[in-house]
Amino acid sequence: MREKDLGADLHEVLITKDEIDSRLAELAGEIDARYEGQDLLIVGVLKGAVMVMADLARALATPVTMDWMAISSYGAGTQSSGVVRILKDLDTDIKDKHVLIVEDIIDSGLTLSWLLANLGSREPASLEIVTLLRKPDAAKVDIDVRWVGFDIPNEFVVGYGLDYAEKYRNLPFVGTLAPHVYGG
Ligand code: 5GP
Ligand code: MG
Ligand code: MG
Repeated sequence: MREKDLGADLHEVLITKDEIDSRLAELAGEIDARYEGQDLLIVGVLKGAVMVMADLARALATPVTMDWMAISSYGAGTQSSGVVRILKDLDTDIKDKHVLIVEDIIDSGLTLSWLLANLGSREPASLEIVTLLRKPDAAKVDIDVRWVGFDIPNEFVVGYGLDYAEKYRNLPFVGTLAPHVYGG
């Protein structure tokens, strides 16, 4: 899907495909340096992290295995509550493995903080996080995130895996939506 095809739905492109590609290449270099000589399991959180998993994994020189989790946050409306249910658990046992969680976006941080505690209790050899996007102004919990692609303003974004009502995930860039899309 190209920018022109978005028509009136798009308000603004925040991060272009080129910017995403070059930032992922930088992060991949740092991640390769961190895991040199080690086996790495990357864990993607469905569905939002699909694009960043696919592109980051291909930018890495480190041989990786990949696994996926699907979780849902309970909460009123669109706010994450931090109360999380596992919809799909990992296929693999992560005990004594080096695990890197790959996230699309950290907003309040509540979902990720739950995930860290959950995976941490399975006794991995190490547990780190890489996220493409982070909203520092929305943080409700302090999380030690080792690699961040971009810090962005506290606005609702779509594209590159991120949806609004399951749409826009296949945009190759990250952008904001026009108010009319939300019914405004
Ligand atoms: P948190 O628990 O950090 O508040 O919520 C993280 C999850 O909320 C993300 O994985 C994502 O599914 C969703 N989310 C948070 N901010 C945005 C946003 O700006 N756009 C979209 N599409 N989803 C978001
Ligand atoms: Mg996510
Ligand atoms: Mg969503």
